[in-house]
Amino acid sequence: MHIHIFWDSQSPAGLQEPVKRLISSVIGVPATVSENHVRIMGYSLSRRQADATAILDSLHAFKYRQKVTDLVLLVVHQDLFTSNHSFVFGLAREQVGAAVVSSARLDNAYYGKASSDDDLIDRLTKEGAHELGHLFGLAHCNNHECIMFKPDTLDELDGKKKMFCPVCRGQLEARIAAG
Ligand SMILES: [Zn+2]
Ligand SMILES: [Zn+2]
Repeated sequence: MHIHIFWDSQSPAGLQEPVKRLISSVIGVPATVSENHVRIMGYSLSRRQADATAILDSLHAFKYRQKVTDLVLLVVHQDLFTSNHSFVFGLAREQVGAAVVSSARLDNAYYGKASSDDDLIDRLTKEGAHELGHLFGLAHCNNHECIMFKPDTLDELDGKKKMFCPVCRGQLEARIAAG
């Protein structure tokens, strides 16, 4: 079991190593990070957002072509939407082992505040680990501090800890053990 993180060229530079290390330690599975070579599809000029579903379609096709069987997490800088949500922090598709997260709304600059690498690393870790949790078959959790809690706001995301609650941890470890 291995996690591949694809880092889009315009995602926050210099953060990929700390984010990779933290995600790997939060989940308990080795991870590697590399430059992204998947085309970002589904960009809407009028919305200035990318369709997360279309990005997962591209990732799915890429994994199939390249015969990648490991889990893949793509980090992009474009703000994401889906047909059901005006924005999403990220989206996962368990059946194909692929997920995407956006740094757009995780940056203080989006809210008119000073950017902070520490905040971005913290939030990208939580969001990335959350979407990867879905790839391991985990559902949302009601524990506000758990990685699998679904945050609707940045404050809720910041209120989470970089860990799975005991219930989710148990499910995750069972899935990792099962391969
Ligand atoms: Zn979720
Ligand atoms: Zn939980």
